[in-house]
Amino acid sequence: MNENIEYIDAKSDIPLMGVDFLGVIDRGTNVIELKPLTMCNLRCKYCFVSSGDYNTNFVVNSYHLVEKVKEIVKIKGNHDLEIHLAPYGEMLLYNELPELLKSLSEITGVSTVSMQSNGLLLSKNIIEKLKKNDLTRINISLNSLKEETDCYLCNCTHYDVNRLLGNIYTLLNSNIQVLIAPVWFPGENEKDIEEIIELVLKLRREGFSKQQIQIGIQKYLIYKTGRTLKKIKPKSWGYFYLQLSRLEKRYGIKLKLGPKDFGIHKRPQVSTFGLKRGDLIKIKIVSRGRWMNECIGKINGSHGIKVLLRKPIIFSEELIGKVIVAKIIKANYRDNILTALFPYN
Ligand code: SF4
Repeated sequence: MNENIEYIDAKSDIPLMGVDFLGVIDRGTNVIELKPLTMCNLRCKYCFVSSGDYNTNFVVNSYHLVEKVKEIVKIKGNHDLEIHLAPYGEMLLYNELPELLKSLSEITGVSTVSMQSNGLLLSKNIIEKLKKNDLTRINISLNSLKEETDCYLCNCTHYDVNRLLGNIYTLLNSNIQVLIAPVWFPGENEKDIEEIIELVLKLRREGFSKQQIQIGIQKYLIYKTGRTLKKIKPKSWGYFYLQLSRLEKRYGIKLKLGPKDFGIHKRPQVSTFGLKRGDLIKIKIVSRGRWMNECIGKINGSHGIKVLLRKPIIFSEELIGKVIVAKIIKANYRDNILTALFPYN
């Protein structure tokens, strides 16, 4: 793991919204997504954000994050809110996790605090802390019950599936909901996914409810900035849903899950700027990024922007504090995540 770490707190000049890999993401629903860190204990061959490879990692102070969440809660309305911890990395590597969970669950209107994890760092002691600090649900990315397949997909030499399964039991017995979220890699782990479905059905037969133990099969997607499994070609969405329907019939289990299944609904959103692709924007550079060709720009006190530096420019400390004009190359109106290019001509 890279030792170059940027710690972001209230004294930093880096805004907590607008950058995809850190801070807070508001997609206009009752779910507020947090990205508190970028480190990972794995380096999966299929990782869509290439975690584990970054030149610089980022960690956000928990108090700073919680203060931002409280501001957003006022806009959304303080009822039926979910806070979802979904870093470009591994949530269990976050040192301030107990404090973060506690503070989030104490916010009026927050009914669910959930997090994503690969689960490998779980232990009885950690689960005890998650329970004590009111974690509602954990989504575990387990792709196979065979160690060999997991080692191949996650690019590691040792993957203790039995220990992970033991920890899933401990989570369930601690009243923490578990959602097993395998990625379906066509031609690679079909059989493995069926074994995970059988495991979920077995746990339900043992008395854990449909809400306590869930399965959410994910489609393998290829992103320009991610790592890819060379020999696997993703299938269309139509084919993916057809396969899920087939498995639903065979096993008598609901596999096609949508926002409604998680109680996700529309809510007011933190105001967006209405910026579009191709617009020019004046920003101040406030930080390096994860890669040498990336930095973070500041639009205002609350919103930042990821800036890609065009070759041959790479980040250097002299860029900090410079005010530049960059061109927006990606603007997602749904979540206000922005990417700009500099220089643009
Ligand atoms: S897929 Fe998840 S666990 Fe694997 S490297 Fe990426 S962030 Fe880490």
